[in-house]
Amino acid sequence: MKNTKVTSTFNNDEAEALISWFEASKRSMPWRTTRSPYWIWLSEIMSQQTQISTVIPYFLRFIDTFPNIQSLAKASQDQVFELWAGLGYYRRARLLHECAQLLCENLQGRFPSTRKELLSLPGIGRYTSAAIASIAFNEFVGVVDGNVKRVLSRVLAKDLGQNEHEAWVQAWMDRSIQASDSPGDFNEAFMELGARVCTPKSPSCSICPLQKICSAHHRGQTNEFPTPRRRAKVRELRLVALVLENNGDLLISREAPSSLFAGVAHVPLVEQHTYSRLSKELKWLSPVHKNEKAMEHELSHRRLHVEVHCQKILETEIRELCTHLDDSTLELTSYERFQRKPKTTLFKKVWHLASTSSKSKTP
Ligand code: SF4
Repeated sequence: MKNTKVTSTFNNDEAEALISWFEASKRSMPWRTTRSPYWIWLSEIMSQQTQISTVIPYFLRFIDTFPNIQSLAKASQDQVFELWAGLGYYRRARLLHECAQLLCENLQGRFPSTRKELLSLPGIGRYTSAAIASIAFNEFVGVVDGNVKRVLSRVLAKDLGQNEHEAWVQAWMDRSIQASDSPGDFNEAFMELGARVCTPKSPSCSICPLQKICSAHHRGQTNEFPTPRRRAKVRELRLVALVLENNGDLLISREAPSSLFAGVAHVPLVEQHTYSRLSKELKWLSPVHKNEKAMEHELSHRRLHVEVHCQKILETEIRELCTHLDDSTLELTSYERFQRKPKTTLFKKVWHLASTSSKSKTP
């Protein structure tokens, strides 16, 4: 980073214009009423890949239930997942919980105050560490995300989409933020501008505080920056959801297949080719029938085609399944107990199909 040469950066007037615009037009968000690192951290983790309007009710419920980091650290993982259910990307919730426990064990529940120290914590990457350090602790470090890169790409009329440009953009932000008095406001202003004014399509240049210095605007090239990228290919996954019962109890797994739902209890999900192999090896496991219940479920960059297979099985067969799936987290649980556990949206769909299947007991 030290060798990354950055020439022209924001001057004081430009930084001031940006922050004045932000002060006058920023949206009201619960975490903007405070500089609490706990609130900033929660809001940043929840906002990853998720729209702000979706995040706000989740954030408020979280803060209501866990008003401080100590209460979050003491909660069970199930309680955390319960409040997270529906936000997706469950790995975030697991790492959030881990991070709270680590901070309470090692730092009396206090957040470190620098980007470098924050970066060493579970689930906190470059963007989140810079956001917490600048907003909560006034460190002059810039945030870099898709919004920031888009604004900068247009202001400089420069293609910044390649990975090798990351260090350059970071250095540019770290230098430009020095022109402001408030690094937190500078970063928030940049993000807000990207989210609301310098939007991917049809940016609102007429109300933009950076209009005067924006090269793409002056050249009439706002649609040419950033250079359009090919969209990541959506991966198709064909799965079988195993709704297996023993004496009225349901078989669940703590191990999320392919890390889709890390740590959230689920009925076992296996890829179709694995299921075909299993049903040959385990004679008691019926092959998936053509009339099996099926559905689709979308995740980011993945489309799941899921067939729901319902069957009653014996305890000895469960032990065999554990061995064949190499999943030691399989366990039987009563429907009543399972009803109280957090559930993914996919699981709710599987459950709905299973409960309408004539082969399964109605949950
Ligand atoms: S002038 Fe237009 S293109 Fe340039 S930064 Fe502002 S909104 Fe984006």
